[in-house]
Amino acid sequence: MEKIVSLCKRRGFIYPGSEIYGGLSGTWDYGPLGVELKNNIKQLWWRMFVQERDDMYGVDAAILMNPEVWKASGHIEGFQDPLVECSKCKRRFRADQAEEKCPECGGKFGEVKQFNMMFKTQIGAVPEDEASNVYLRPETAGGIFVNFKNVVDSFHPKFPFGIAQIGKAFRNEIAPRDFIFRVREMEQMEIEYFVRPSGWEESFEEWRKAVLGYFEAVGVTLGNIHELDVPAEELAHYSKRTIDFEFDFPFGKKELSGLAYRTDFDLSAHTKASGADLTYLDDATGERSMPHVIEPSFGVDRTILALLTSAYTEDELGGEPRTYLKFNSAVAPVKAAVFPLLKNKPELVAKAREVYLMLKKQIPQVMWDDNGNIGKRYRRQDEIGTPYCITVDFDTLGETANLKDTVTIRNRDTGTQERVSIDNLASRIV
Ligand code: ATP
Repeated sequence: MEKIVSLCKRRGFIYPGSEIYGGLSGTWDYGPLGVELKNNIKQLWWRMFVQERDDMYGVDAAILMNPEVWKASGHIEGFQDPLVECSKCKRRFRADQAEEKCPECGGKFGEVKQFNMMFKTQIGAVPEDEASNVYLRPETAGGIFVNFKNVVDSFHPKFPFGIAQIGKAFRNEIAPRDFIFRVREMEQMEIEYFVRPSGWEESFEEWRKAVLGYFEAVGVTLGNIHELDVPAEELAHYSKRTIDFEFDFPFGKKELSGLAYRTDFDLSAHTKASGADLTYLDDATGERSMPHVIEPSFGVDRTILALLTSAYTEDELGGEPRTYLKFNSAVAPVKAAVFPLLKNKPELVAKAREVYLMLKKQIPQVMWDDNGNIGKRYRRQDEIGTPYCITVDFDTLGETANLKDTVTIRNRDTGTQERVSIDNLASRIV
């Protein structure tokens, strides 16, 4: 884990939040390569689950919502973790994760108290009172349910159909830890898939496979994902079935993502609390009813951590140890790097710039690198997971007549090189 955290910082993937001020617990900032990786992961999800399907609708709802939403969903009452405080050093821990005594000073714990994890803030230029309280959303799902009627009225989708959203969510976790695994500001990718009550089992099974299909496409090692069918006695009162997809993180087997059959709990609760009619008229049967819902829920940050864990590889190449990230082309922040063989030969540099700019027009995530010798450039690109390195050499310029306008392309995983015509480069890379 330390190796991954240090690589992420050194190479510009993920930095501690507010670092020059000593940090802010539970926050991390994505750097230049991290933001590309994160965007690729979100785009892949959006493409697979929204754009490539005709039963899915995307939304991007406001993070601040009317607090009645969180009353109806049960978050104001029940979104809490048990908290204990050490009577000696006053540090706080999650009661369900803590030992008998304070791990910091050995002090005794006080009584277990319930701690609501929603961040509260004030809206409007009014004196601070209860009426102006709003919350940063603790999950993106709320923004989907409140737009259910809007989407149905605009698009008249046929059963079954879903609404998807990607966005930030905030939880005042008692004990943020394990790098980006448990943070206070995170990003989620969530779907509410609306079904007839009689069709939930079939849809649940389809989504179970789709969740795994997504992780496979990202490059998360499937063998390290374990499906935990949550036992009936531990299910939320409204859920008939929940699967936690757990992953073998470096610090243990922990939840990566979830899939829940939530019955009609949410739409019924919002109908009751808002007074809006959130029933749905099923054209096929002529019946009006409250749809039931299957909820696949993914954390972007945990997906990135599972991917980094899966991709981190140490091996030996050419008799030397190396570290590389085995990203596939779909998620790699840099798809290819272009080098001139030598930095001090203007004709090589000019040709390499030409190849680089041509490629960049077709594939924006291409990088230029002319620092140090070729071996060092390869290692640098390996470390950030670039699948291909392209070198412009004297043969590219025509020193060997039949090799004119060809370049070498090196495969990250095997270290092998091939000569490829410049015209065919783009199709080789993606
Ligand atoms: P946990 O039990 O680990 O706190 P949870 O069961 O509360 O997680 P959900 O409410 O099901 O999580 O949230 C859906 C997804 O959002 C999780 O599967 C996870 O990927 C992500 N997630 C939840 N809380 C956090 C967090 N504090 N930091 C990062 N990701 C999170």
